[in-house]
Amino acid sequence: MSETFYSIRMRAAERSIERGEKHISGGERIGRQAQIEPIVTELLRKGSSHSRGDADFLQIVIEKIIDEEIQIIPPLAVTGIETSSILKGRQEARNILEAIGISEQAMDAAFDLISSSNNLRGAALIHYRSGIRLDDRGERGVRVSRMDWQKEPELGARVREAIALASKVAHSPYTVAELCWSDDPEYVIGYVSNLATGYVRITPLKEEGCESGGRVFFVADEVDLDAYIHYLEKTPVLIRRKDE
Ligand code: AMP
Repeated sequence: MSETFYSIRMRAAERSIERGEKHISGGERIGRQAQIEPIVTELLRKGSSHSRGDADFLQIVIEKIIDEEIQIIPPLAVTGIETSSILKGRQEARNILEAIGISEQAMDAAFDLISSSNNLRGAALIHYRSGIRLDDRGERGVRVSRMDWQKEPELGARVREAIALASKVAHSPYTVAELCWSDDPEYVIGYVSNLATGYVRITPLKEEGCESGGRVFFVADEVDLDAYIHYLEKTPVLIRRKDE
């Protein structure tokens, strides 16, 4: 790859003296020089018109990426499950996680964490058997960054971003599975994913109007935590379909 790429990242928050900082929105993109302006405009729009609230802090960081570091990976295959209730949706998610080998304990820990948090702005890393949280990031969590599609797929922005993130996460040998649902009160769809199962979109996983949401990565026994977090946060990854 001879072209220069840039990592373009956004985060928006609402800050108050009483409640501290509330995460509103974030965005992780990679683009060539000519794409910087349109991507910045898109991220600005995303961060300043979010149903979680009005951001009074918005930060955009643009950083050159060293070409040799970019990894190219294929996207996870997408399937979907629609159910008639949150209970059924969550049961479907649990069935898939159980088949992957995630323990009951670890699933309970993940569902509790995602349902109760309304401020996690990254992901929690949870051991896939013990359910113990392995990162020490608290409310901040681990933010997966520096990933994007090499060629824009014909998908809505939300799904496009989620598949890019889930594909990057799944391609680490330390990831056993991921569970996610959005913290956007208007969006009740979530997913379970890993390399073998792909990206399984499940609806509904939460009630409309609810601001809880988050991501849990179930982590393998042999994890090298520093290397794992470094990959998630720092390694630039471009998603490319096999036929492109
Ligand atoms: P979203 O899919 O953007 O609605 O985000 C849902 C939740 O996933 C957020 O509340 C965060 O906890 C988490 N999250 C969002 N973006 C990232 C990211 N880049 N890396 C890790 N976790 C994220």
